[in-house]
Amino acid sequence: MDPYTFYTLLTLASVGKAGMILLVAPQYPGRITRGMYAWALGGLMMGMNFALFVLTARSLVPEPVALGGAVTLGIGGTLLVFVAVQELRERVYSKFALLGVFVFAAVANAYTLHAGHDGLRISVNSVLAAAVFFMIAHALLRPDPPSGRSIYRVTGFLALAISMVLAIRAVSPLILDSPIVHPMDENWVQQLTYSAILVGNVLGSLCFGLIVAEELNAELHQLASFDSLTRIYNRRVFENLATDELLRARTKRVPVSLLMIDIDHFKQVNDRHGHAAGDAALVRVAETMEESLRHRDLLCRYGGEEFGVLLPATARAQALRIAERLRLATMHAGFLYGGEAIPLTVSIGVACIEGPPYDLSLLKHDADRALYVAKQAGRNRVAVV
Ligand code: GH3
Ligand code: MG
Ligand code: MG
Repeated sequence: MDPYTFYTLLTLASVGKAGMILLVAPQYPGRITRGMYAWALGGLMMGMNFALFVLTARSLVPEPVALGGAVTLGIGGTLLVFVAVQELRERVYSKFALLGVFVFAAVANAYTLHAGHDGLRISVNSVLAAAVFFMIAHALLRPDPPSGRSIYRVTGFLALAISMVLAIRAVSPLILDSPIVHPMDENWVQQLTYSAILVGNVLGSLCFGLIVAEELNAELHQLASFDSLTRIYNRRVFENLATDELLRARTKRVPVSLLMIDIDHFKQVNDRHGHAAGDAALVRVAETMEESLRHRDLLCRYGGEEFGVLLPATARAQALRIAERLRLATMHAGFLYGGEAIPLTVSIGVACIEGPPYDLSLLKHDADRALYVAKQAGRNRVAVV
């Protein structure tokens, strides 16, 4: 197969791939859709890069326009891959800085082509492309949570390898007998570069697909496990984790305590200040609890304005102290909404298991009873059974 047939096929594959991604992208959650759009457009621009080589070989586009355009599109496409990673990870990045790099690439190509500095043009483009691939590698390898996802590391090292190859190409005038002056020149640096681009293209597509799958999985896990308003565990996950904790307690013969927490007169907060204020108050109470608890304590939104806290290895007396701390923390949280102070208090029911049976429904039943006692006794207090 001659190189031009090869590049034609590569272009068709890139366009087909981009088209498929653009078609399915809207079905995904927002940040994933944005990442997919950026990646598809990046792939399309990189594909056009090869298309221009073919068009100029067939004398359909003047060579200087094709060469300058191709590599500028290639760098633009690479920048969009960087954008895709940042969008997927919901990170901030400067669109202006990226646009600046793109414009610089276009101007540098126009100038070097016009002035006939072919060697310089190849080196400048290689430096730019190497730098952008390095940015992609850095964005993928940053130890941002969630760190355990190996697909990010694999893809990051792939981008790093491509960056290294391009860096070698940038300094190739120092190591080659005759420097590269045309994209179709043949020598070992060129072979290495085009192999890296081809292999990177194929593996990069696979990596991106796996990253999207991973992100979707994380999104579904988040939706299934956490309350969408307060971002703490929902009841289902809490009860699963609490059941595990009770099994551990039974094996180790240690006590476990449960707090059932209910905001006092919460209906009035909604009635007087509106539902949005009520929502903000729920978030604030959840944050206050989270700040006052130990790392291993489990906090969940049981439903409505009710929260549950499981305290592993905690006996009754200590559970009472923790409950009292939570009550005071909420009372003193100083919740403000629209500049107005809204007083918030909670009533807390405490229950404890100190021996068999280690039964969650029994523990919940006792905590609910204690909560009822706290409410009956006048609210803003802790009760225990
Ligand atoms: P008590 O002191 O007896 O607990 O009184 P209360 O008003 O807190 O109790 P009640 O159960 O009568 O009212 C609970 C209120 O919580 C009613 C409901 O509108 C509100 N609520 C439940 N979930 C949400 C929510 O997600 N957002 C908002 N804003 N309000 C909610
Ligand atoms: Mg209430
Ligand atoms: Mg309630």
